[in-house]
Amino acid sequence: MSPAIEPTPPATPRIGVTGVVRRVDGADRSGVNAAYLRAVLSAGGLPFVLSPLLGPELAPAALGGLHGLLLTGGEDLDPAWYGATPSPRLGPVDRARDAFELAIFAEARRRGLPVLAICRGLQLVNVALGGTLWQDLPSERPGRPHDAAAPRTARVHRVRIRPGSRAARALGAAELVTNSFHHQAVRDLAPPLEATAFAEDGVIEAVEERDGGPWLLAVQWHPEEFHADPAAPDGGLFAALVEEARRAAALNAPRDPAASDPDRSSRGTTRGRSRR
Ligand code: MN
Repeated sequence: MSPAIEPTPPATPRIGVTGVVRRVDGADRSGVNAAYLRAVLSAGGLPFVLSPLLGPELAPAALGGLHGLLLTGGEDLDPAWYGATPSPRLGPVDRARDAFELAIFAEARRRGLPVLAICRGLQLVNVALGGTLWQDLPSERPGRPHDAAAPRTARVHRVRIRPGSRAARALGAAELVTNSFHHQAVRDLAPPLEATAFAEDGVIEAVEERDGGPWLLAVQWHPEEFHADPAAPDGGLFAALVEEARRAAALNAPRDPAASDPDRSSRGTTRGRSRR
């Protein structure tokens, strides 16, 4: 807990969580796997689902008043974004979602917001910053345990985490056995990124930004699935995002339109800021 004299940070930073559009029972529905929302709530954040229906043009407006961004899992990325020909084994893609998330990731960076990216989110970050992907891990790197047909909370393979990295600090561990259900993975790492966790077969399981730039951490497994276990190290990733969102909110407060809303000023945030 922060001491009471810390200036400005909102008690519950607002975290944008990218959603999906899926056809269920004959109707298009838009939402997100509830585990992501529960994981953000458990970490003390206030999650808001950002539907890809908004489109890239509304990405800047969608981030208004938010303090952090969570890029979630889902469909394969369209390989056209990184200049590759589609593999016959490419899974379903959603170019509209790709376009929305690429735009919102770029906008989050422009605003200096912290970003946690999970599974497809890691892949999107890598592609956005100039990297490429394995399109079909089972055929391109066969015999590996990544597309496990196990329960979503089954820990199926070991991950080694670089000591001192952002991932290691957030998880409080240098090694972890993770769940794994991802069809794609990083092939060529984007130049600004550093790989800080690996599976035993060399598949990249976490990336972060080298130096400078806004806080960015991405993992290939699904830490949100462990939200119900307060002892799971995976929860540290969401705690780190929420803590960084508090910090970003404090730094951005003078330029944040939400800072002038009556709800926040009534909590004395302006007075707090003047002490800094
Ligand atoms: Mn894996």
